[in-house]
Amino acid sequence: MNYRIKKVLLSSFVLLMVFSSVFAKDKRPNILVILCDDLGYSDVGFNGSKDIKTPNLDKLAHAGVIMSSGYVAHPFCGPSRTSIMTGKYSHVMGAQFNIPSNSEHTGYGIPLDNKFISKELQEAGYYTGAFGKWHLGADAPYHPNKRGFDEFFGFLGGGHRYFPDQYRPVYEFQKENGNKNIHDYLKPLEHNGKEVKETEYITDAFTREAITFVEKSVKREQPFFMYLAYNAPHVPLEAKKEDFKVFPEIKDDKRRTYAAMVYAVDRGVGALVETLKKEHQFENTLIVFLSDNGGKLGQGANNYPLKEGKGSAYEGGFRVPMFFHWPAKIKGNQVFEHPVSSIDFYPTFAALAKVKPSKRRELAGKEVLKPIMEGRNPHLNDMLYVLRHRTGLSDVGARYNNWKILRTSNNPWKLFYIKKDISETKDRSSEFPEILKSMVEKAEKWSKTNEEPKWFHSKEEGQLWHNMNMPRFDETFSID
Ligand code: CA
Repeated sequence: MNYRIKKVLLSSFVLLMVFSSVFAKDKRPNILVILCDDLGYSDVGFNGSKDIKTPNLDKLAHAGVIMSSGYVAHPFCGPSRTSIMTGKYSHVMGAQFNIPSNSEHTGYGIPLDNKFISKELQEAGYYTGAFGKWHLGADAPYHPNKRGFDEFFGFLGGGHRYFPDQYRPVYEFQKENGNKNIHDYLKPLEHNGKEVKETEYITDAFTREAITFVEKSVKREQPFFMYLAYNAPHVPLEAKKEDFKVFPEIKDDKRRTYAAMVYAVDRGVGALVETLKKEHQFENTLIVFLSDNGGKLGQGANNYPLKEGKGSAYEGGFRVPMFFHWPAKIKGNQVFEHPVSSIDFYPTFAALAKVKPSKRRELAGKEVLKPIMEGRNPHLNDMLYVLRHRTGLSDVGARYNNWKILRTSNNPWKLFYIKKDISETKDRSSEFPEILKSMVEKAEKWSKTNEEPKWFHSKEEGQLWHNMNMPRFDETFSID
């Protein structure tokens, strides 16, 4: 081939590449995270609930992969959400406590040098939206719109009441009477920083906005990343009459209201799935469903067969209902028994968007889709931590392959063969002291990466932290 022909062929090839990249349809998947707040491990049909019906969630779960060892990185709200967004443990950035209520003008928020996955995806060309609860900073620099979300509809605090016609009059009364510290749960919802006059039950409002967002993303011809963070079934327990009526067989009123709140989420998910199908997005959307922490005992939740609940380092605190659904890539009818953690979402989603996180080495998790599809343990020989400080003490647990170490309330360390003993009934520490010792040493090493808390959920907790000379990790990680 002579030089001229070669040159012509080469330039046509280059032109072809340029054209195909300009006109190629963006085939990267949509990513939809559906988060519930304080939903118990066994409060969904797909995890064995006998009384709460979740037909839409169950359909997705069964057509996807159910994670029977799905973990979050903290047993309560704010720090758990921090890990979803940053791919790191909240402790390494001083965010291990909830941001206190009414935190406007406090300057508190997840430190800005931790890039959120939303920002990563937005920069990679995704259309991004957050709906529902935020709880990651109420001041301007920490607002969802500043952290990579094109759209935000919801509330910035840690919880909210559900019926606008009930909370609005209370809010307006307090406002008229000059109350400068109106509780977060009563404040109007907002859309991109602007107050909105919501009229619907707020679970339904979040579903409505999520549907609109999907429709917009299709018009924009961009793949979307949606963070649909329902605050249900977090307290206050408030349900619609029509949903309450679905559960006549539940005699306990709290449980029945809670069930109805979960049912409202399930209705919402059903409507959203219909929209995804109508817009031809269903096949190529990865749906990840989970709860931000365990169910709150005494408030209608059920974490059976796990021990304890929200706030605990026992499995009930941070092992949560979770599934992945993606018809185009993930085979259905699977239960995945290896651990998958919310710290894995960041690298997993970044890989789907074909971006390399700029600070990959700082991330705590793993890309998990390939291991899930191949049935491999994504966390072979990894430690997965749970660490909760409270009232001058530290409760800590860690999972390593099939084992879990646990120390609560300064009681002696325990060791569980968690693979077969998910109810944490039999302490094996005296049988396997070497395993215990090596895991505790690893956990102690990790604790040295923790930073001093940047805020406390209450003044009392902060005082206690200082008075008790917390965190006193040398004491926590001593075995004797
Ligand atoms: Ca929560």
